[in-house]
Amino acid sequence: MIVSKIKIVIVGGGVGGLELATKLGNKLGRKNKADIILVDYNQNHLWKPLLHEVATGSLDDNINSISYLSHAKNHYFNFELGRLIDIDRKNKIITLAKINTSNGKLLIPQRQLNFNILIMSIGSVSNDFNIIGVKEYCIFLDNPQQAHHFHNEMLNLFFSYSIRKKINNKINIAIVGGGATGVELSAELYNSIEKLISYGYKGLNKKDLNVILIEAGERILPTLPERISTVVHDELTKLGVLILTKTIITSAHNYGFNTKSGVKIYADLMVWAAGIKAPDFIKKISYLETNKLNQLLVKTTLQTTLDNNIFAIGDCASCPKKNGGFVPPRAQAAHQMATLCYKNIIALLEYKDLKEYSYKDYGSLVSLSHYNAVGNLIGNLVFNDIMIKGKIARIVYILLYRMHQIMLNGYIKTGLIILVDSINRIIRPKLKLY
Ligand SMILES: Cc1cc2nc3c(=O)[nH]c(=O)nc-3n(C[C@H](O)[C@H](O)[C@H](O)COP(=O)(O)OP(=O)(O)OC[C@H]3O[C@@H](n4cnc5c(N)ncnc54)[C@H](O)[C@@H]3O)c2cc1C
Repeated sequence: MIVSKIKIVIVGGGVGGLELATKLGNKLGRKNKADIILVDYNQNHLWKPLLHEVATGSLDDNINSISYLSHAKNHYFNFELGRLIDIDRKNKIITLAKINTSNGKLLIPQRQLNFNILIMSIGSVSNDFNIIGVKEYCIFLDNPQQAHHFHNEMLNLFFSYSIRKKINNKINIAIVGGGATGVELSAELYNSIEKLISYGYKGLNKKDLNVILIEAGERILPTLPERISTVVHDELTKLGVLILTKTIITSAHNYGFNTKSGVKIYADLMVWAAGIKAPDFIKKISYLETNKLNQLLVKTTLQTTLDNNIFAIGDCASCPKKNGGFVPPRAQAAHQMATLCYKNIIALLEYKDLKEYSYKDYGSLVSLSHYNAVGNLIGNLVFNDIMIKGKIARIVYILLYRMHQIMLNGYIKTGLIILVDSINRIIRPKLKLY
C-alpha cells in the first residue's frame, strides 16, 4: 500500500492517548506534516479516575467529558469511532469492528486503516482472575457505561429500600479490591446516601448502609505507604465501612460472595475492582510480546519489543523501570509516557536518537469524597516523601484532574471550565438523580 503522508494512528483516547493525539496534532497536524488519527470506541473522553464519582452520581459525565470530534477539530487531528479488533503488522493495517445500531442493524461495516506509526493506548480492564460468577454478578468500573449501570442500580436499590424499608434490614454493597477504586467508591457511597436523604428519600438512614470492602492482602491500599493505608482504614471505619482484609473470594453468586475460609458475604450490589489486565484480545491479535496481564512489552523508548513502529503507552504497556520492576498502571504514568512518546515519535521522524522513559513517582492521593483526602507527595529538593490529608490533599487531588484538562485545553479554556463547574455546583443538584 502506498502511503503519501506519514500516518500516525493512536488507538485509545484515554489519559495517555488523548494527550498524545493533542500534542501530535498541534505539532504535526497543524502544519500538515502528518495525518494524526485517534481511534476510540467511545464518542467522548472522560478522565478515568473520575469513574467512581460518575458511578455514585457525585459527578455528571455529560458535563465533564470531552467530545473527541470537537477536540480533534480544535487540535488538528482526525477521530475515527471504532473498536480495534486486529493488527496486521506486516502490511501496517489495523481493523476496526463493524458498528451496529442499538437494535442490531448494521451502521458501519468492518473497516481498515493503514499506518506508518501505531500507538497502542487502550488502557486496562478489571481482572476477574477467572473466578466463578464474577463476570455474571459483579459490576466493573472500567468505562462510563459500566459506571452508569452501577449508578442506576444504586439509585434503584436506595429508592426501593427507602419505600419498603424492613426492620433490621441493611443495604449491603460489597466491593472487592482495596485499591484506590474500592476505597474511593466506598466513601462516595456514604456521600450519595447523605445527599439522597436530603433530596427526600426519607426512609433511608445512613446507618442502614453497609459497605463491605474486601481485600485479599494484609491491608487496603497495598501499593501505598503503610501509614496512608492506616489513616484511610480508620477514616473508612469511622464512616461505617466494614473492611475485611486477608479475605479471598472464591466465587460470586446472586446472593453475594463465597470466601476461601467458607464464609458467605451477602450483598445487594457487588462491585469487582481487584486488579487490572490489558484487554484479553490483545494477546491473540498483535503478534507482539505480552506478559501474563496481556500488557504489551515495551523497551524504555516505549517501542514494542518486536516492532519499532508500534509504541505502547499507559496501562496496556509493560515498561521496565530503571531501578527494577515495572511502571505501575496509573494516570501519572500514562501522562508521562504520552509526553515521552510524543518526543520519540518526532525523533523517529527526524532520524534522531530516541529518549528513554524513566518513571517519576510524584506520590498518590486517595479521595474519601467530601469527608477527607489522604496521600503522599514525593519530591526531590524541598521534601522527600510527605503525607498530606484534609483540605490540602483534596486541593492537590483536584489539581491532578485540572492539570490533565490544562494539557488538553490550555490555561484559558481550563479556567473557563473551572468557572462553569463552580456555577454548576450552585445551580445543579449535588447528586445526579437520574
Ligand atoms: C475508578 C478509578 C479511579 C482511579 N484513580 C486513579 C488515581 O487517583 N490516580 C491514578 O494515577 N490513577 C487512577 N486510576 C487509574 C488510571 O485511571 C489509569 O491508570 C489511566 O486511566 C490509564 O490511562 P490509559 O491512557 O492507559 O488508559 P485509559 O485512560 O483507560 O484509556 C483507554 C482508552 O482506550 C479505549 N479503548 C479500549 N479498548 C479499545 C479498542 N479495542 N479500540 C478502541 N479504543 C479502545 C477506551 O475507550 C479508553 O478511552 C483510576 C482508575 C479507576 C478505574
